[in-house]
Amino acid sequence: MPHLANTNILILGGTTEANALARAVAARGLNATYSYAGRVDTPRPQPLPTRIGGFGGVVGLSAYIRDKTVTHVVDATHPFAAQMSRNAIAACADTGTALVALVRPPWEACAGDNWSRVTDIEGAVGALAGPAKRIFLAVGRLHLDVFAAQPQHHYLLRLVDEPQHIPMPHADVVVARGPFSGEDDMALMTRHDTQLVVSKNAGGSGARGKIDAARMLGLPVLMIDRPVLPTRRECATPDQVLNWLAHSGVNLGV
Ligand code: NAP
Repeated sequence: MPHLANTNILILGGTTEANALARAVAARGLNATYSYAGRVDTPRPQPLPTRIGGFGGVVGLSAYIRDKTVTHVVDATHPFAAQMSRNAIAACADTGTALVALVRPPWEACAGDNWSRVTDIEGAVGALAGPAKRIFLAVGRLHLDVFAAQPQHHYLLRLVDEPQHIPMPHADVVVARGPFSGEDDMALMTRHDTQLVVSKNAGGSGARGKIDAARMLGLPVLMIDRPVLPTRRECATPDQVLNWLAHSGVNLGV
């Protein structure tokens, strides 16, 4: 069983929940590293030693875990970061390292919501066949290219960094970093005459504003379901992760 002195936690981050966990882990003086993929120009500073960039697949992550003698991996990546999550499962199995995923529950439609659901990004692209609409496409920079297959629409894109290239002919870009409130997103969508919102089912509160705004404005949402991952241990909150660490022998020092 690892104790405080030889505990070495790797947090796979890039989410609000990972940031909250990093604060909790740092506050307890635990030995941990925060890992970013390096997707945004200026990642948020963390109260933990931080590394940036891919590991090099399962082999690279396994090697990193061995080299750094990582004792616990917390996969706190976004629910749509499926490749990283699969790699974490495989590398932890290879190296015999304890793994937990910090996963926020998906959003559930409630009264007044008008959702159509698709299983993946490609399904969303297919569902956009038809006459031109004004669409708030809230899927992140990495998935924009595939929507060029539906060039008839006018897209509102909200991105963390100014994009170097916009693959669709009609688009407005808003550069902003969440969290976003329902009121803010209602104002944004009203200003842009939005008729449809396309969203990944990210869960959590930071990106929920557009879903609340769509309900308040009576607009439909095309909701992309989460990728399905192999079974793994999951926690819903940073506190649950701390409990898991304590149960796996880590002295939390409180
Ligand atoms: P992905 O498709 O699952 O991962 C692709 C590759 O990026 C991974 O195989 C890994 O490269 C590298 N990578 C991903 N997350 C990493 C991390 N935290 N630390 C080090 N390397 C990482 O991931 P993604 O969807 O592009 O997401 C990338 C990052 O953005 C994640 O940190 C995620 O939490 C965050 N994010 C994603 C979304 C989304 O909608 N996908 C939304 C908000 C934030 P190697 O194979 O070389 O190790």
